[in-house]
Amino acid sequence: MPDLLLLALLLAAIAIGWWLGRREAVKSRRQSQQQATLSRDYFVGLNYLLNEQPDRAIETFVQALEVNSDTIETHIALGNLFRTRGEADRAVKIHQNLLARPSLTNAQGDQVQLELARDFLHLGLLDRSERLLQQVLRDTHDDGIRQAARRLLVDLFEREREWQQALDVALPQMVRQDKDIRRAAAHWLCELAQQNMQSASPALARKRLRQALSIDDSCVRANWLLAKLEQDTGHYKWEIRYLKRIPEQDRDFTPVILEPLRDAFLKLENERDLEQYLHQSITTTPHISAVLMLAQLLERREGVEAATRLVSEHLASTPSLRGIDYLMDLSLLDTTVTPQRERIVLLKQHTDKLLKVRPRFRCQRCGFSGGQLLWQCPSCRHWGTTKPITGLEGE
Ligand SMILES: [Zn+2]
Repeated sequence: MPDLLLLALLLAAIAIGWWLGRREAVKSRRQSQQQATLSRDYFVGLNYLLNEQPDRAIETFVQALEVNSDTIETHIALGNLFRTRGEADRAVKIHQNLLARPSLTNAQGDQVQLELARDFLHLGLLDRSERLLQQVLRDTHDDGIRQAARRLLVDLFEREREWQQALDVALPQMVRQDKDIRRAAAHWLCELAQQNMQSASPALARKRLRQALSIDDSCVRANWLLAKLEQDTGHYKWEIRYLKRIPEQDRDFTPVILEPLRDAFLKLENERDLEQYLHQSITTTPHISAVLMLAQLLERREGVEAATRLVSEHLASTPSLRGIDYLMDLSLLDTTVTPQRERIVLLKQHTDKLLKVRPRFRCQRCGFSGGQLLWQCPSCRHWGTTKPITGLEGE
């Protein structure tokens, strides 16, 4: 059993013990027989707990507790405990049982409805969860509960990929107050813009991408999509302008923009400005992707030696597997002696294998890694936290 669950159960047991003790002191003698039953149930529950039988312990505690204004919080907590250990159906039973009590105050009713909505969300019953949350939002007078309900509703619309509805709930208050929601909202606008791009509505897409940047000026994806829009219509100068903004937002994304940037410069037959940009880029941050792109330009114009010199200089301060692999390519171009060529080819087989299996992107939040740039991490579900991996095995 996880330590955290055991600790939570022990705390719940202490709370129940305290409550029973307090009630003992204030209630009349007429109730002493019932009291004895409850106390016995409590000790039976505690015994289950100490024998590491949490399921039976929880059930005994629930039976031992009357539902009244003193114990509602404990019941809610027990329900939540079930949910956090993956038994949301049992949490639903406890919370629905609570909701049927006429003695609940309005605030308690709102709290229980909120927890029930959370249970349904865990069970994937999104319609039922949404109905409850909308009701809580209509009825509650408690700001804390309203905020929690909005947060859950945003989570629910995100799961349903209902981006506009998520925005309607989050704008403007949550977006202003919560950094994570702000970042997510910019991505929801990007999602909508992508739908506009697919349905050939570039003007609407542009409008949404600008709105994304006005909400979160660090949204790399908005500039990436704006560049894509310009590329689709053959406006390469504008494409270059948007692509260049990305490393200004986040330098770690430099490796991602280099290929479309090179293609756009070449479309404009402007290799000179591409070379100048690459020089500037590696002076600020020596990403191996930029070094290799510059080396390829040098190789074509000045030959293998100039390219080898450039890459070797950078590898001395910033080691990189891709850099070594490229140096071997250059050596093959320059070597005619068969045994030496064979040795290089053999070495290259190893670097090729290593390069193929390495992940290229990693989530900065949970560490999930893969070969594709995903704007929402599939593991922790945060937006914009996945970046290119740089360094020895990166890029
Ligand atoms: Zn993640």
